[in-house]
Amino acid sequence: MTAPLPAWGAPSAKAPLVPHPITRREPGPRDVRIEILYCGVCHSDIHQARDEWGGSIFPMVPGHEIVGRVAEVGADVSKFAVGDVAGVGCFVDSCRACDPCLRHLEQFCQKGAAFTYNGTEMDRKTPTYGGYSTGIVVAENYTLKVPPGLDLAAAAPLLCAGITTYSPLRRWKCAPGSRVGVVGLGGLGHMAVKLAASMGAEVTMLSTSRAKEEDARRLGAHAFELTSEARTFKRLAGRFDLLIDTVSAEHDFNAHLGLLRTEGTMVCLGVPPTPAPVAVMSLIFGNKKLAGSLIGGIAETQEMLDYCASKKIAADVEMIPIQKINEAYERMLKSDVRYRFVIDIASLK
Ligand code: NAP
Ligand code: ZN
Ligand code: ZN
Repeated sequence: MTAPLPAWGAPSAKAPLVPHPITRREPGPRDVRIEILYCGVCHSDIHQARDEWGGSIFPMVPGHEIVGRVAEVGADVSKFAVGDVAGVGCFVDSCRACDPCLRHLEQFCQKGAAFTYNGTEMDRKTPTYGGYSTGIVVAENYTLKVPPGLDLAAAAPLLCAGITTYSPLRRWKCAPGSRVGVVGLGGLGHMAVKLAASMGAEVTMLSTSRAKEEDARRLGAHAFELTSEARTFKRLAGRFDLLIDTVSAEHDFNAHLGLLRTEGTMVCLGVPPTPAPVAVMSLIFGNKKLAGSLIGGIAETQEMLDYCASKKIAADVEMIPIQKINEAYERMLKSDVRYRFVIDIASLK
């Protein structure tokens, strides 16, 4: 065990985040120890720190958009050397042997992936703590290489927001000519706009915030529409091949399904805390598909990082010291983030 490291966490669902020092294991032969430089703030951090999905484990040190520098490598590590820039996303281990693991979909490990925080290591005893901390120890196979050329703070959100939007765009073949609608312009939404535009799609931003129109166009959207106005749903009925839904709060799935073209797909990425009714009719008329997507496997995450580096794509970030984390959560709940808060981990020291 290391000496206690500075970290911030939630003592319980009702409490604000406060300093909460943690220890990490000494690196084993296949582990790397990373000194964390930046950690993005995902809306999932809020959902879990406030136990909105149920089953949260406290105390909780959130953070799964981690970029740092490798400070120590185990004897058998071959992928990393001390000094390399490394990334850690939403999970830090899995069983490595089950069907999803062998298909490079480790996030669906049948034994349960070891999520980066609010979970346990594969021993099912040791709690995992995330990136609102100065260091982390992770198996090299579950650590990403951050390619040169990316701004490190802006690269951190790629580890969750980036892969979460890249994966469904690839799976549903976003390409020149595709009509893609991105619902919700926050951390995930702004990455979806940038990525879909980079793949040649015709991108429409569907937002509740009129004030974000100029930003949406700067990010690459060709059109901007307000979902807070009922007439938008009439005017755009049947328009999109693919809808990327990133909304974190309750909203009307049926109305959104009406925006799909025949045989179109709506992919749910946002996880509103309450279930939403779906009328089967909204799917049957038009052979439409309602799908979900959870982050991405390690290989696809690496592919996404390399793609982003080649296209010079990263997040638009507002850097904060950890002391502002509770304020940042409140601002995200008001859709007031442009477009990802990233914690400068130097502020923990
Ligand atoms: P975020 O930065 O807070 O953005 C969410 C956006 O949703 C807001 O900016 C807002 O966009 C829109 N919105 C919020 N409340 C709304 C409401 N009541 N009605 C309509 N629109 C609303 O959050 P994020 O980090 O992008 O995460 C979004 C969701 O994805 C969260 O639920 C998160 O847990 C989930 N998530 C899922 C995965 C996955 O693997 N599936 C991965 C990461 C995160 P406008 O202002 O443009 O309307
Ligand atoms: Zn996330
Ligand atoms: Zn597995």
